[in-house]
Amino acid sequence: MIYYRSTRDIKAAYDRITSAEAIKKGLADDGGLYVPEKYPTITDELFDTLLKMDYTDRAACILSLFLEDYDRKALAAAAREAYSEERFTGTGHAGPAPVVSLSDNINVIELWHGPTSAFKDMALQIMPRLLSLALAMTGEKRLAHILVATSGDTGKAALEGYRDVDGVKITVFYPVDGVSRMQKLQMQTTYGSNVNVVAVRGNFDDAQNGVKAIFSDRALAEKAEGQGFFFGSANSINWGRLAPQIVYYVSSYCDLVRSGKIRRGDKVNICVPTGNFGNIFAAYIAKLMGLPVKRLIVASNSNNVLTDFIATGIYNRTREFKKTISPSMDILISSNLERLLFTIGGAPLTDVLMDSLRSFGMYKAPDNLMELLRKDFSGYYLTESETEECIRKTFEEKGYLVDTHTAVALGCAEKFISGTGDTTPLLVASTASPFKFAPAVSKALGLEKTDDDLQCMNRLAEYTGCRIPDPLSGVFGREIRFTETIDPDEMPEIPFRSR
Ligand SMILES: *Cc1c(COP(=O)(O)O)cnc(C)c1O
Repeated sequence: MIYYRSTRDIKAAYDRITSAEAIKKGLADDGGLYVPEKYPTITDELFDTLLKMDYTDRAACILSLFLEDYDRKALAAAAREAYSEERFTGTGHAGPAPVVSLSDNINVIELWHGPTSAFKDMALQIMPRLLSLALAMTGEKRLAHILVATSGDTGKAALEGYRDVDGVKITVFYPVDGVSRMQKLQMQTTYGSNVNVVAVRGNFDDAQNGVKAIFSDRALAEKAEGQGFFFGSANSINWGRLAPQIVYYVSSYCDLVRSGKIRRGDKVNICVPTGNFGNIFAAYIAKLMGLPVKRLIVASNSNNVLTDFIATGIYNRTREFKKTISPSMDILISSNLERLLFTIGGAPLTDVLMDSLRSFGMYKAPDNLMELLRKDFSGYYLTESETEECIRKTFEEKGYLVDTHTAVALGCAEKFISGTGDTTPLLVASTASPFKFAPAVSKALGLEKTDDDLQCMNRLAEYTGCRIPDPLSGVFGREIRFTETIDPDEMPEIPFRSR
């Protein structure tokens, strides 16, 4: 059985819990993140099995390796519901995460065919089901109140995943000027009787720190307890978010083998547009499990704190926060990096580094840790104009339309290839539909500016011949249900208000 422990558990195995408990708790009591004590291996035999399966069965199979306390049939049912053709649309028979080849060695995994047209659906469609099962498995009587801080896409994806799920309520906090108009509209118009959406004055880190502060406040936990609920998370710090993300890296590797693009056992490089470091950490886990992955390329926008970290070993968040056209990556504290520090450096070191980050806004990782880290990871970033240029070039040269986040990854992949000469087949994670960021994508293509989002999407569709995903065209004309804006220090009161 695989147990979970905190990245800051310096005493080791003092707080060793099952996966159901880890998913229910989210964050450990010591402020650390839960990680599995060991990683299961993809044996030749298992790979044979996975190769023959469709996405849903691969998901159930891989999840069951990590969630050993769960009933296998229940996991299979959860995967079947989560990744149904009803929820992931427009891919024909290619499953929820089709792989598209742009050239001989560049392949894109499209992770945005779900209900909110961004990759977070891949995890957030199944995570609420994993939580529901965990509540039942642990005999939980209280209601789970899920708190989410979002830089845009997580919020809507969580709302779609949790709305009208029994035994759960959800509140989403977003930075008032830190999300796109489309993202804001998507959240404000969410259906569901158990959802709340609140704007916070500040940036994403303010919202995220506010949520973290609620989670670590004993008095608030007791107050909640008295009212029959407890706080849970859906952010990528929750293991239930991370585990489903491992699946698409393994699955797309299988797809590349099946389509003859690579041979079994061939290495691939993986490039991921990175914010909170969850998505790329899932790719790293796939590598730890034995998937033939050579290098992981961390792609950043001009909030290039991770690029600098990989280059220098110094993580320094005390820098100007930049608003970019890839807002889901506008992050100065990449929470899941803590899991990588733990995996390479262990709990005592992680604890010290995280303490330094909290106190001084920075830390310097030891050279031997950085050496190990650089064996697997490379870091690149793209400026705003480079991102626009990449969107234009990719469309003009390949006839392929990408959103701003995917463009950052494609551009970084190109820098990696020209910088290293490494032409190993590349898997690039495409994290959002281009229509989700239609104004920025249109501008990059040189289309005329318009303030009307719907008109903007329509014009982009006309110009490119690409189809607008139904979930995006659907938000216009819906009732706006949530308009409240608060200061960060008001956040703790929100879950206690009845709504
Ligand atoms: C969340 C998000 C990212 C960043 O993913 P992390 O797991 O936070 O690194 C990238 N692109 C899009 C479109 C996103 O929504």
